[in-house]
Amino acid sequence: MTLDEALALDAADPLAHCRERFALPDGVIYLDGNSLGALPRAAAAAMADTVERQWGDDLIASWNKYDWIGAPQRLGDRIAPLIGAGKGEVLVGDSTSINLFKLLAAALAARPGRSTILSETGNFPTDLYIAQGLTGLTGATLRTVEADAVEGAIDGDTAVVMLTHVDYRGGRRHDMARLTAAAHAAGALMLWDLSHSAGAMAVDLRAAGADLAVGCGYKYLNGGPGAPAFLYVAERLQDQLASPLSGWLGHAEPFAFEPDYRPAPGIARFQAGTPSILAMAALEAGLATFDGVSMSDLEAKSRALSDLFIALVEERCPDLTLASPRGSRGSHLVFAHPHAFALMQALIGRGVIGDYREPDLVRFGFAPLYNSFADVWRAIAVMADLLTSRAYDQPHFRQRQRVT
Ligand SMILES: *Cc1c(COP(=O)(O)O)cnc(C)c1O
Repeated sequence: MTLDEALALDAADPLAHCRERFALPDGVIYLDGNSLGALPRAAAAAMADTVERQWGDDLIASWNKYDWIGAPQRLGDRIAPLIGAGKGEVLVGDSTSINLFKLLAAALAARPGRSTILSETGNFPTDLYIAQGLTGLTGATLRTVEADAVEGAIDGDTAVVMLTHVDYRGGRRHDMARLTAAAHAAGALMLWDLSHSAGAMAVDLRAAGADLAVGCGYKYLNGGPGAPAFLYVAERLQDQLASPLSGWLGHAEPFAFEPDYRPAPGIARFQAGTPSILAMAALEAGLATFDGVSMSDLEAKSRALSDLFIALVEERCPDLTLASPRGSRGSHLVFAHPHAFALMQALIGRGVIGDYREPDLVRFGFAPLYNSFADVWRAIAVMADLLTSRAYDQPHFRQRQRVT
């Protein structure tokens, strides 16, 4: 493939116009949108408006005037079509970690007599840590098995199966419908972490029959650093589940200021406290970058970009070994290299931004809204040059100040 051929693919790409929705610096090829999404062009003005006009001029009246109070559900309804959820099934707020806590605790309480949270050994650390914290509080047990063994490990003591749909490291993608059905067949609830899926592929929670889900606002949803996360509770379960963080904004009548907690009907009961409105403004600009985008186009482009990346690595960077599955996978890839850390530092020095994962992996994410086929081609050209010249093999690239 030549650069001209990559440019021709961009010219035929139905999502090519979306790149204009982002403020990407010149000379940078950004392949880390799976860790921190790029800045939407509209975000700075949206935040300035929220600060200056709404907060500044209208002060407390803005809770109603600009529907600050409705932001968690309004933004949830914007995320819903990206993940195959319905209106009123998604709530925005808190972090992914906190939302995991809320939903895992609710799931355990909804399955009395069962005491196991089942997950996979390689799950993202916070998912496992939150489950471990809950075992101390509830007497439940966290059981982890290898990814392939999860289905066979679901049994009559399993209260909830907690899996990350797309593995943060290798990018393996679980079969959501199949595992959800297996959990249900054993009487367990199914909780999906969509942190590495939402905004990168066509997720269909409803078609899969999923019960619960959480996900991240600052990765492919482009909500900005530390953006609020989201949670999903299937409508049929909402009134059977209770949040353990029974804060006032999840109360049926927060402004009645009653002494005793009564959960709100619907998804609102999973809200704890006051949402961060400035962070919501940035996330709303992030979600607007998906306006008019078809999820099947998004998924097709993710696949085409990553397929091209693999093909070009195999052609031009033989020192790298693919460590992601070729089959069912998400929108990022990892490759093993004995000097992975130094190689990534050298790539970043040349404007190709991916990241490093222990112990020897370079990771590249493909955000279908703003990455192009030419980005892939150019990134590979830089990497091939670094590998043949061994320019990464220098002391300053090996120094580890911080590992992100
Ligand atoms: C990024 C990510 C998180 C992030 O959790 P925070 O609470 O936002 O820090 C959680 N789970 C998975 C699988 C992730 O990829």
